[in-house]
Amino acid sequence: MSTVRKQAYQDVLHRVPKQIEQSGKISKVFGENVFHLEVMREYLPDEAYKSIKEASSKGTRIERRVADQVASAMKEWALDKGATHYTHWFQPLTGATAEKHDAFFKPVSPGHAIEQFSGELLVQQEPDASSFPNGGIRNTFEARGYTAWDPSSPAFVIANTLCIPTIFIAYTGEALDYKMPLLKALNAVENASIAVCKYFDKNVTSVSATLGWEQEYFLVDKAFYNARPDLMMTGRVLFGHAPAKGQQLDDHYFGSIPERATAFMRDFEREAIRLGIPVTTRHNEVAPNQFECAPIFEECNLANDHNLLLMDLLEKVARKHDYRIVLHEKPFPGLNGSGKHNNWSLATDTGVNLLAPGKNPKSNLQFLTFFVNTIKAIHDNADLLRASIASATNDYRLGGHEAPPAIISAFIGSQLTKVLDDLEENIKAGKMTPKDKTELKLNIGKIPQILLDNTDRNRTSPFAFTGNKFEFRAVGSLANCAQSMIVLNTIMANQLEIFKKDVDTRIKKGDGKDEAILKELQKLIKESKNIRFEGNGYSEEWVKEAKKRGLKNLKDTPSALKVWEEKRSIDLFEKMNVFTKRELLARQEIEYEKYIMRVQIESRLIGDLTQNHVIPAVVNYQNKLIKNIEGLNNLLGKNAEAGTKEQRYILQKLSSHMNDMQAHAIEMLECRKKANAIEDIAKKSVAYRDTVKVHFDKIAYHCDKLEVFVDDELWPFPKLREMLFTS
Ligand code: ADP
Ligand code: MG
Repeated sequence: MSTVRKQAYQDVLHRVPKQIEQSGKISKVFGENVFHLEVMREYLPDEAYKSIKEASSKGTRIERRVADQVASAMKEWALDKGATHYTHWFQPLTGATAEKHDAFFKPVSPGHAIEQFSGELLVQQEPDASSFPNGGIRNTFEARGYTAWDPSSPAFVIANTLCIPTIFIAYTGEALDYKMPLLKALNAVENASIAVCKYFDKNVTSVSATLGWEQEYFLVDKAFYNARPDLMMTGRVLFGHAPAKGQQLDDHYFGSIPERATAFMRDFEREAIRLGIPVTTRHNEVAPNQFECAPIFEECNLANDHNLLLMDLLEKVARKHDYRIVLHEKPFPGLNGSGKHNNWSLATDTGVNLLAPGKNPKSNLQFLTFFVNTIKAIHDNADLLRASIASATNDYRLGGHEAPPAIISAFIGSQLTKVLDDLEENIKAGKMTPKDKTELKLNIGKIPQILLDNTDRNRTSPFAFTGNKFEFRAVGSLANCAQSMIVLNTIMANQLEIFKKDVDTRIKKGDGKDEAILKELQKLIKESKNIRFEGNGYSEEWVKEAKKRGLKNLKDTPSALKVWEEKRSIDLFEKMNVFTKRELLARQEIEYEKYIMRVQIESRLIGDLTQNHVIPAVVNYQNKLIKNIEGLNNLLGKNAEAGTKEQRYILQKLSSHMNDMQAHAIEMLECRKKANAIEDIAKKSVAYRDTVKVHFDKIAYHCDKLEVFVDDELWPFPKLREMLFTS
């Protein structure tokens, strides 16, 4: 074994679970590091408290005077929590979160200092942001970017720093982040939903999109992680022979969690709870060392902030436990990858989940309205939804027979399929007779309130109805949920607007309200039928069937990203006031860039590692074999031919795999040079996909063969079986 690898193995064998703080009830610490409304009531004058409460629920403006009061209260509270610094916490398009820390501390005269934080500093900052991706929006001469306070997501203290959630915009007002367009999309879906809700209940004055994410991840010991440059630099192992035992036995899913991992989870859950993230579920996933955690769902913007915070927290707490978190969608070949299921629904301020079947025909008609409109929105905008989850890393997972395909379809279960089929057939053109109406009402009344039937769950669908919400399963584990939530909420808002308009037209022409709604739903059911699929989404037959239906199969990121520039997409986002054309195209450019960068880094690393890790190990082993053959030749004389057969066979295998591996590596390098010379970014991404990335699997194939042939003692990297099964 290489020294690094040997040391790593020894280190891991001697690890013991870290002692963690156990005392006290979890409920006592929930949200203790959050400047939430309850705390504000305590720290703020009445008038300021009321104003901030309104701002956070209704998005009303906050006056400067109030901002000053809030800043001062926030500072007092944060200092009580031991904070020394504050930061505007934002979501640049790199995908991670960013922060720039400033101290509260301010010297005012020699030997005298105060803690300072004003409304001005709370409301807006100008981070030195020229290094964040902007897709050409911010020319260097106007390199300014601003962060601005989002009062709808509460500030929190982490690692002695007060973090204030903010949006991040260019000098020209264009969004440079994920939060600002998400807030706009949420606003659009709220307004459109309220208008449609009025058909059923005049009392609805606010509607929120809800998001409950489930986050999957792998834990790897830090010693192994540090001994794998590929995992460190790209988030995945670029080669590694599949372990003899992988996940075939299915013994990891819901199995007992190892002690060390349990200690880590308890620790990180406690920290999450302190930050107000209501995590409740934890369990093993299918692959060894893979886990999942999920909170109770929340309003979408807050839930998204919490997901980003949680990813950060996973990282921080894992380090304390000598682990590293691996969030990549496909870190280990031959094992299931990781996703981030986005459970989504709409909730009214009257306490109704608009995607949950109700108790009577009236509430069920409301349910069907939102349900059918969602399906129609997915049908009309499947390619946008696909584009929203496109990334170089997610490309390794989607369509991989363990993850949803790149073809977007919706699963709704047999009961609702029947309901929709009935509606489709039973509404006749022209005026409905009272008998028709009664019959339909009866049918709709029969939708059972509880649809959560586990046997009816289809885990192979990218977009599945699960009883009282839709679950978007194709989202990548590394992604910012906002990306898909911006699209989902925007297309839903647009669809609801169209629906409202068309129903109103029918009413004007003389239909009764329910009749108009039913007829419109029938039309939508017919038009969107193609997107519904109840079968096995992982199967080859589905790929063929989807093609027949005319559904798109955008297999990779360069193909999916094209969608953003289509006129239809631009019109939609401009109409819904979520993105301007410039913003949309900037985003597309950034996504292309990210794709190219990722593939480029992997390609470089593959070159480096084969060259200066794998080949030297192979040569070493060759020398060992040659020495052995020489020795045997001396000893056996003319019988040496038979006595060294096996050694010579291995030598030949080593040479042939090494040569082939090297040939691909050289060709890959040549192709990379050519690709780098391409100006057009879309074409460049295609070149990277078709001429550079295509070598990865071939190189890995030969490398993995070499791993099997080369003396285990000489192999430079920790093997998958060590990384995944040593605990
Ligand atoms: P699984 O998909 O693993 O079977 P569950 O169905 O129990 O898990 O729930 C998954 C997630 O769905 C949870 O995080 C939960 O908070 C979320 N969820 C439940 N109801 C809603 C809702 N109305 N809106 C958004 N998310 C929801
Ligand atoms: Mg799920």
